[in-house]
Amino acid sequence: MGFVHPYEAVEWAEHSRHLAQLHTHEPRNTIRADTNDHEPAIDVERVPIDDLGKNNLSPASRPEVLARKYRNAGYTVFALTEHEYYVDRTKHKDVPYEEMPDVLAETSWPWGDRDGDPTEQPGTEPLDGTEFDPAQRDMLALQGTELRGRFQGTLQDLIGLDTDIGHGRQESMGTLLERIAAQDGIALLPHPSKYRDTVSVGDYRSLFESFDVLRGLEIFNAHDRYPGRTLWDRLLTELGADRPIWAVAGDDYHGRARPSDGKRFDRSRLVLLLPALTREAVSDALRHGRSYVQYNGDAHAPFVESIQVTERAITVDAPAATRIEWIAAGETIKTGDNVEYEHVADEPYVRAAIHGDGDALTCTQPFYVE
Ligand SMILES: [Zn+2]
Repeated sequence: MGFVHPYEAVEWAEHSRHLAQLHTHEPRNTIRADTNDHEPAIDVERVPIDDLGKNNLSPASRPEVLARKYRNAGYTVFALTEHEYYVDRTKHKDVPYEEMPDVLAETSWPWGDRDGDPTEQPGTEPLDGTEFDPAQRDMLALQGTELRGRFQGTLQDLIGLDTDIGHGRQESMGTLLERIAAQDGIALLPHPSKYRDTVSVGDYRSLFESFDVLRGLEIFNAHDRYPGRTLWDRLLTELGADRPIWAVAGDDYHGRARPSDGKRFDRSRLVLLLPALTREAVSDALRHGRSYVQYNGDAHAPFVESIQVTERAITVDAPAATRIEWIAAGETIKTGDNVEYEHVADEPYVRAAIHGDGDALTCTQPFYVE
């Protein structure tokens, strides 16, 4: 009896928590790195959006400004996961890969300056006051792209991290996942509930069962526009400890003006628990679920100071929590700082949902019941 969980290797007193943003896009408008504004400061309710998916209001800021904006908000792990069809500020959506392979194979890495890796060649080019070298600001930058794979008859998004794959080539999701695995990358499924009409729980289950490289499911996207917790609970219940699925969360920020109820910056994120801020440590934490997710809403999601796990109970220390729910197989079975083994002995897993003010919510990864 007891629990199997991803925090076993975490030394809470020694590991540091790192805010990670792994789902972002190049700014479509002018954004400011030195404010906490969610989007361009424009009253946008009726601003037309052109067919590039951009508010035709202001010149687009460089990707470096976006990275700096996240760094200023406290993030230390960052990936610019531009769509596979958006290259050099031009949208080629629905253009078959074979029509322009040289262009479409490009990724947005390195940002801006395509002749050098900004993490390795700091300051090689003046960038009009926007220069930003992640490494010099203690930020770990990961290469990534929001790719698309063919799944259940439609093209669906897939985030590839730590790979230089720039396009899914309209191939099957499985083929794309194999390409990412061959590069030792990491794959995450963004906003799964966007595809609710075409993809069943069973389809996702098969995908996770077949491809180890697929590590995470986005349970919060942006302002929680595509909630993924119900699907996550179903998959955790069906797959169990043999095939863990880690929750991830991302802003899906485009630096675009939006109505006030659609703000995205600094809403949804992953918190990684790391012994050091290195690519290896980040990769390890992503693969093994040494993390939790946060949805801020209009407030601040509570941080977790530590989680104590014994054979008999799990106890969460989150001082800013207003309420802690324990969820097993999708149902809330208890509230309070801890859950005892007897409460969950017959459940496949239990996880903590740690509430803050307003809609703010922090979710731990699952603790599988043995
Ligand atoms: Zn996206």
